[in-house]
Amino acid sequence: MSHPSKHLLAIEGLEPPHIGDLLDLAESYALLNRSGKTQRDLLKGRTLINLFFEDSTRTRTSFELAGKRLGADVINMSVSTSSVNKGETLLDTASTLNAMHCDLLVIRHAQSGAPALLSQKVDAAVINAGDGTHEHPTQALLDALTIRRHKGRLEGLVVAICGDITHSRVARSNVHLLTTMGSRVRLIGPPTLIPADADRLGVEVFHDMKKGLAGADVVMMLRLQKERMAGGLVPSAREFFRFYGLDAEKLAHAKPDSIVMHPGPMNRGVEIDSAIADDPVRSVIGEQVEMGVACRMAVLDVLARRLPRNR
Ligand code: ASP
Repeated sequence: MSHPSKHLLAIEGLEPPHIGDLLDLAESYALLNRSGKTQRDLLKGRTLINLFFEDSTRTRTSFELAGKRLGADVINMSVSTSSVNKGETLLDTASTLNAMHCDLLVIRHAQSGAPALLSQKVDAAVINAGDGTHEHPTQALLDALTIRRHKGRLEGLVVAICGDITHSRVARSNVHLLTTMGSRVRLIGPPTLIPADADRLGVEVFHDMKKGLAGADVVMMLRLQKERMAGGLVPSAREFFRFYGLDAEKLAHAKPDSIVMHPGPMNRGVEIDSAIADDPVRSVIGEQVEMGVACRMAVLDVLARRLPRNR
């Protein structure tokens, strides 16, 4: 099992064998989870702290579940109950966590680079659970695993990532992972929501949904991230849906057996029509959540193997 670092801070920098190993291990956890045999003692005696400075439903819960299924002691710290509200800095929080001998630290933060900074200050292995607009590596892993289960491979697939690319750490991690694994990635969105240097990422850029979706194997929708917009980038939700929202008419341009994905939380009627989101054949959104637990188990497992014993 190869992993190049003590931490998982980003997909960028991982090579095909690192990603392939994580996905294979995650697949075995997915099968184990489905069989109901979930109790393992791999992380017995290890402490996992979930440190979330931004809201989360799926990611925080699935890291908690993943840690518990592997036998770790799991502690959830949310900002509202921590001293951060009393002015404690991120690095002060780090030394507190260090003093508690935490083994695995999962962090989400609004600032890009916060997990990397923390990783230099704590003894624990740090996992980035989403930092600003930078990366969300475990989301890209669970997306890749879901795609691989449906399409049997990543190489050569046409994957269209649509909507608010600029503010999306999910898009960034997915672009790195999918291009590394040989997929052909297209970014589709209005010019205001696609980074100016996107073509340097080895992707194709489209501003027209129908053209961009033509022949796609995978259609990945993103949430319109209003909380990260300075304003004025999108005329109105209604207008956005008309041009960039996924409905049956636009989806008809993708391959007939294409799958539809969304990392959640969804803005129904803004970036995706409810009928598509809930389509039992085309939508794999529920399976993405299921694969999230399996991928996070794989990441915890791989990082824990590199930790010293008896800390
Ligand atoms: N849940 C994902 C994230 O934290 C996607 C989103 O929020 O739209 O980046």
